[in-house]
Amino acid sequence: SDHDIEYPLTPDHMDWSKQYGEFATGRRVEFADIGCGYGGLLMRLSPKFPDTLMIGMEIRVKVSDYVNEKIQALRKHHAEVGHYRNIAVLRSNAMKYMPNYFHKSQLSKMFFLFPDPHFKNKKHKWRIITPTLVSEYAYVLREGGLIYTITDVKDLHEWMVKHLSEHPLFERLTDDEMNADPVVEMLYDSTEEGQKVTRNEGEKWPAVFRRLPNPAL
Ligand code: SAM
Repeated sequence: SDHDIEYPLTPDHMDWSKQYGEFATGRRVEFADIGCGYGGLLMRLSPKFPDTLMIGMEIRVKVSDYVNEKIQALRKHHAEVGHYRNIAVLRSNAMKYMPNYFHKSQLSKMFFLFPDPHFKNKKHKWRIITPTLVSEYAYVLREGGLIYTITDVKDLHEWMVKHLSEHPLFERLTDDEMNADPVVEMLYDSTEEGQKVTRNEGEKWPAVFRRLPNPAL
């Protein structure tokens, strides 16, 4: 349940120094890992983009607490060189509060790695990719920004591809474009869920989508 989640009235009400300390000064969050789970992707991305603020959003209290403790420990361990100052976790419901946290066009990358599939038809509305939510993601993403998805559930892959491809503000990257992006290879095995699928020898379907310019009125 998420009735106890505290969220800012507007992005301007958000005090990111709670997440990043002084490192937040003069910076804005640019990457968002939605349903980050145990945070493996953030920890992998952090040293590759040391100057970029990244946030994981996770609805389960215990999991987000765990990720926070892990990040604090990593920061402490690497204090002399200042690594891992750019990653943090927020306990929140990403299906409800995105525009409360992020300004229009703020984000350059959003990640949906192994999201919960919710197989049953009547549960489709609880999926993290729906036409309404895709419009919200388009709002917080800048032009040229990217949505990265990967799942081991083929039906969910097809669902995400359909809804993102059909949306007028997104286009799917070609295989060549995906291969040219060094982040794509990190989608497969950086997270707990990705590693679990590998152990079970499951298949994985990635897809990436680019935020298109708003059409001229
Ligand atoms: N991305 C991680 C990975 O690859 O290991 C976690 C995958 S796990 C199957 C899905 C995660 O999404 C869970 O940790 C779950 O608590 C979280 N989640 C589900 N719905 C959410 C929501 N509305 N907002 C934020 N997190 C959510």
